Amino acid sequence: EQILKNYYMGTQAIPVLKGVSLDIHQNEYVALMGPSGSGKSTLMNILGCLDTPTGGKYVLNGKDVSKMPDDELANVRNGEIGFVFQQFNLLPRLTAAENVALPLIYAGVGKKERLERAMEALKQVGLETRSHHKSNELSGGQIQRVAIARALVNNPSLLLADEPTGNLDSKTSVEVMELFSQIQQAGNTVVLVTHEEDIAAYAKRIVRLRDGLIESDRLN
Ligand code: ATP
Ligand code: MG
Repeated sequence: EQILKNYYMGTQAIPVLKGVSLDIHQNEYVALMGPSGSGKSTLMNILGCLDTPTGGKYVLNGKDVSKMPDDELANVRNGEIGFVFQQFNLLPRLTAAENVALPLIYAGVGKKERLERAMEALKQVGLETRSHHKSNELSGGQIQRVAIARALVNNPSLLLADEPTGNLDSKTSVEVMELFSQIQQAGNTVVLVTHEEDIAAYAKRIVRLRDGLIESDRLN
Protein backbone atom coordinates (compact mmCIF):
# COMPACT_ATOMS: atom_id res chain seq x y z
CA GLU A 1 0.00 0.00 0.00
CA GLN A 2 1.40 3.36 -0.97
CA ILE A 3 2.07 5.96 1.66
CA LEU A 4 0.39 9.33 1.41
CA LYS A 5 1.14 12.29 3.63
CA ASN A 6 -0.67 15.61 3.72
CA TYR A 7 0.12 18.56 5.92
CA TYR A 8 -2.78 20.77 6.82
CA MET A 9 -2.88 24.56 6.74
CA GLY A 10 -6.16 25.21 8.50
CA THR A 11 -8.54 22.95 6.60
CA GLN A 12 -6.51 22.94 3.41
CA ALA A 13 -4.61 19.73 2.70
CA ILE A 14 -1.17 20.07 1.17
CA PRO A 15 -0.05 16.75 -0.30
CA VAL A 16 3.64 16.10 0.35
CA LEU A 17 3.98 12.34 -0.14
CA LYS A 18 1.75 11.37 -3.05
CA GLY A 19 2.07 7.61 -3.14
CA VAL A 20 5.37 6.18 -1.94
CA SER A 21 5.87 2.44 -2.11
CA LEU A 22 9.06 1.32 -0.43
CA ASP A 23 10.11 -2.06 0.88
CA ILE A 24 13.22 -1.97 3.05
CA HIS A 25 14.66 -5.24 4.30
CA GLN A 26 16.57 -5.97 7.46
CA ASN A 27 20.26 -5.17 7.07
CA GLU A 28 19.98 -2.84 4.06
CA TYR A 29 22.01 0.36 3.66
CA VAL A 30 19.83 2.89 1.84
CA ALA A 31 20.49 6.51 0.84
CA LEU A 32 17.45 8.69 0.27
CA MET A 33 18.08 11.57 -2.12
CA GLY A 34 16.04 14.25 -3.84
CA PRO A 35 15.65 18.00 -4.17
CA SER A 36 14.80 20.24 -1.25
CA GLY A 37 11.09 19.98 -0.47
CA SER A 38 10.67 16.61 -2.20
CA GLY A 39 9.52 14.96 1.05
CA LYS A 40 12.66 13.21 2.34
CA SER A 41 12.37 14.37 5.95
CA THR A 42 8.62 13.75 5.90
CA LEU A 43 9.24 10.17 4.82
CA MET A 44 12.05 9.71 7.39
CA ASN A 45 9.75 10.96 10.15
CA ILE A 46 7.18 8.34 9.16
CA LEU A 47 9.85 5.60 8.94
CA GLY A 48 11.09 6.69 12.37
CA CYS A 49 7.63 6.65 13.96
CA LEU A 50 7.85 10.36 14.69
CA ASP A 51 4.76 10.85 12.51
CA THR A 52 2.07 8.71 10.89
CA PRO A 53 0.94 8.67 7.25
CA THR A 54 -2.32 10.33 6.17
CA GLY A 55 -3.05 7.33 3.97
CA GLY A 56 -1.53 3.95 3.19
CA LYS A 57 0.23 1.54 5.44
CA TYR A 58 3.60 1.43 7.19
CA VAL A 59 4.60 -1.99 8.50
CA LEU A 60 7.68 -2.02 10.75
CA ASN A 61 9.10 -5.42 11.69
CA GLY A 62 5.76 -7.05 10.89
CA LYS A 63 3.72 -4.55 12.90
CA ASP A 64 1.33 -2.11 11.23
CA VAL A 65 2.19 1.18 12.92
CA SER A 66 0.25 3.46 10.54
CA LYS A 67 -2.65 4.19 12.83
CA MET A 68 -1.10 3.76 16.23
CA PRO A 69 -1.93 6.31 18.91
CA ASP A 70 0.99 8.57 19.87
CA ASP A 71 1.89 6.82 23.13
CA GLU A 72 2.09 3.38 21.51
CA LEU A 73 4.02 4.85 18.61
CA ALA A 74 6.48 6.34 21.09
CA ASN A 75 7.04 2.89 22.59
CA VAL A 76 7.78 1.41 19.18
CA ARG A 77 10.10 4.30 18.45
CA ASN A 78 12.01 3.89 21.72
CA GLY A 79 12.36 0.16 21.19
CA GLU A 80 13.13 -0.17 17.52
CA ILE A 81 14.41 3.11 16.08
CA GLY A 82 17.63 5.09 16.36
CA PHE A 83 17.55 8.59 14.89
CA VAL A 84 20.51 10.83 14.00
CA PHE A 85 19.86 14.43 12.98
CA GLN A 86 21.88 16.96 11.03
CA GLN A 87 22.11 19.13 14.13
CA PHE A 88 23.81 16.99 16.65
CA ASN A 89 21.38 17.68 19.51
CA LEU A 90 23.83 16.75 22.25
CA LEU A 91 23.22 18.33 25.64
CA PRO A 92 26.31 20.51 26.21
CA ARG A 93 26.40 20.12 30.00
CA LEU A 94 26.55 16.34 29.78
CA THR A 95 29.56 14.20 28.94
CA ALA A 96 29.63 12.02 25.83
CA ALA A 97 28.75 8.94 27.91
CA GLU A 98 25.88 10.74 29.66
CA ASN A 99 24.48 11.92 26.32
CA VAL A 100 24.66 8.40 24.92
CA ALA A 101 22.93 7.01 28.02
CA LEU A 102 19.98 9.44 27.78
CA PRO A 103 17.57 7.20 25.83
CA LEU A 104 18.10 4.50 28.46
CA ILE A 105 16.82 6.81 31.20
CA TYR A 106 13.53 7.05 29.29
CA ALA A 107 13.58 3.27 28.90
CA GLY A 108 13.88 2.88 32.68
CA VAL A 109 17.32 1.21 32.68
CA GLY A 110 19.29 1.48 35.96
CA LYS A 111 22.31 3.77 36.25
CA LYS A 112 25.06 1.15 36.28
CA GLU A 113 23.71 -0.66 33.22
CA ARG A 114 23.13 2.68 31.47
CA LEU A 115 26.79 3.62 31.74
CA GLU A 116 27.95 0.16 30.71
CA ARG A 117 25.76 0.22 27.63
CA ALA A 118 26.79 3.80 26.82
CA MET A 119 30.44 2.73 26.95
CA GLU A 120 29.69 -0.20 24.65
CA ALA A 121 27.99 2.11 22.14
CA LEU A 122 30.88 4.60 22.34
CA LYS A 123 33.26 1.72 21.67
CA GLN A 124 31.21 0.81 18.58
CA VAL A 125 31.86 4.28 17.16
CA GLY A 126 35.52 4.30 18.26
CA LEU A 127 35.16 6.93 20.97
CA GLU A 128 35.58 5.02 24.22
CA THR A 129 38.52 7.23 25.18
CA ARG A 130 36.36 10.37 24.87
CA SER A 131 33.54 9.26 27.15
CA HIS A 132 34.16 11.99 29.77
CA HIS A 133 34.42 14.87 27.29
CA LYS A 134 31.67 17.42 26.80
CA SER A 135 30.67 18.62 23.31
CA ASN A 136 32.91 21.71 23.43
CA GLU A 137 35.88 19.36 23.91
CA LEU A 138 35.03 17.25 20.85
CA SER A 139 35.39 17.80 17.09
CA GLY A 140 32.35 17.99 14.81
CA GLY A 141 32.93 14.45 13.58
CA GLN A 142 33.37 13.16 17.11
CA ILE A 143 30.15 14.89 18.19
CA GLN A 144 28.28 13.26 15.32
CA ARG A 145 29.75 9.88 16.32
CA VAL A 146 28.48 10.45 19.87
CA ALA A 147 25.03 11.17 18.37
CA ILE A 148 25.30 7.92 16.40
CA ALA A 149 26.29 6.04 19.57
CA ARG A 150 23.25 7.53 21.29
CA ALA A 151 21.04 6.32 18.43
CA LEU A 152 22.57 2.83 18.77
CA VAL A 153 22.40 2.46 22.53
CA ASN A 154 18.89 0.93 22.47
CA ASN A 155 19.99 -1.68 19.92
CA PRO A 156 17.48 -0.39 17.36
CA SER A 157 16.66 -2.58 14.38
CA LEU A 158 16.43 0.52 12.20
CA LEU A 159 18.94 3.38 12.24
CA LEU A 160 17.74 6.55 10.49
CA ALA A 161 19.87 9.60 9.79
CA ASP A 162 18.57 12.82 8.22
CA GLU A 163 21.55 14.57 6.59
CA PRO A 164 24.01 13.30 9.19
CA THR A 165 26.96 14.77 7.28
CA GLY A 166 25.31 18.11 6.47
CA ASN A 167 27.48 19.98 8.97
CA LEU A 168 30.70 18.05 8.43
CA ASP A 169 33.69 18.55 6.14
CA SER A 170 34.18 15.96 3.40
CA LYS A 171 36.85 13.92 5.18
CA THR A 172 34.77 13.65 8.34
CA SER A 173 31.67 12.88 6.25
CA VAL A 174 33.46 9.91 4.71
CA GLU A 175 34.41 8.66 8.18
CA VAL A 176 30.79 8.89 9.28
CA MET A 177 29.62 7.04 6.14
CA GLU A 178 32.19 4.30 6.77
CA LEU A 179 30.92 4.04 10.31
CA PHE A 180 27.37 3.54 8.99
CA SER A 181 28.78 0.79 6.73
CA GLN A 182 30.23 -0.99 9.76
CA ILE A 183 26.94 -0.61 11.63
CA GLN A 184 25.06 -2.08 8.69
CA GLN A 185 27.53 -4.95 8.44
CA ALA A 186 26.97 -5.63 12.13
CA GLY A 187 23.32 -6.33 11.30
CA ASN A 188 21.41 -3.04 11.51
CA THR A 189 19.28 -1.51 8.80
CA VAL A 190 20.54 1.98 7.92
CA VAL A 191 18.57 4.62 6.01
CA LEU A 192 20.04 8.07 5.57
CA VAL A 193 19.23 11.25 3.71
CA THR A 194 21.91 13.12 1.83
CA HIS A 195 22.14 15.80 -0.84
CA GLU A 196 25.57 14.69 -1.98
CA GLU A 197 26.09 12.06 -4.66
CA ASP A 198 29.56 11.09 -3.45
CA ILE A 199 28.18 10.55 0.06
CA ALA A 200 25.24 8.49 -1.26
CA ALA A 201 27.76 6.33 -3.13
CA TYR A 202 28.69 4.71 0.20
CA ALA A 203 25.19 3.20 0.49
CA LYS A 204 24.16 -0.05 -1.19
CA ARG A 205 20.88 1.25 -2.55
CA ILE A 206 19.82 4.74 -3.64
CA VAL A 207 16.19 5.88 -3.59
CA ARG A 208 15.39 9.20 -5.23
CA LEU A 209 12.31 11.20 -4.35
CA ARG A 210 10.91 13.97 -6.51
CA ASP A 211 7.87 16.00 -5.64
CA GLY A 212 6.49 13.38 -3.27
CA LEU A 213 7.00 10.39 -5.55
CA ILE A 214 9.79 7.85 -5.97
CA GLU A 215 11.67 8.76 -9.11
CA SER A 216 14.14 5.89 -9.01
CA ASP A 217 15.20 3.09 -6.70
CA ARG A 218 18.30 1.12 -7.52
CA LEU A 219 21.21 -0.83 -6.16
CA ASN A 220 24.49 0.95 -6.10
P1 ATP B 1 15.16 19.39 2.45
O1 ATP B 1 16.10 18.74 1.49
O2 ATP B 1 15.11 20.86 2.25
O3 ATP B 1 15.38 19.00 3.87
P2 ATP B 1 12.90 17.54 2.29
O4 ATP B 1 12.94 16.70 1.06
O5 ATP B 1 13.36 16.96 3.55
O6 ATP B 1 13.67 18.92 1.99
P3 ATP B 1 10.38 17.90 3.68
O7 ATP B 1 10.92 18.54 4.90
O8 ATP B 1 9.92 16.51 3.78
O9 ATP B 1 11.40 18.05 2.45
O10 ATP B 1 9.20 18.82 3.18
C1 ATP B 1 8.37 18.49 2.06
C2 ATP B 1 7.33 19.58 1.88
O11 ATP B 1 6.45 19.59 3.00
C3 ATP B 1 7.91 20.99 1.79
O12 ATP B 1 7.18 21.68 0.83
C4 ATP B 1 7.68 21.56 3.18
O13 ATP B 1 7.49 22.94 3.11
C5 ATP B 1 6.42 20.86 3.61
N1 ATP B 1 6.37 20.63 5.07
C6 ATP B 1 7.29 19.96 5.80
N2 ATP B 1 6.93 19.88 7.10
C7 ATP B 1 5.75 20.53 7.19
C8 ATP B 1 4.85 20.80 8.26
N3 ATP B 1 5.10 20.36 9.50
N4 ATP B 1 3.72 21.49 7.97
C9 ATP B 1 3.45 21.93 6.72
N5 ATP B 1 4.25 21.68 5.67
C10 ATP B 1 5.38 21.02 5.89
MG1 MG C 1 14.81 17.50 4.99
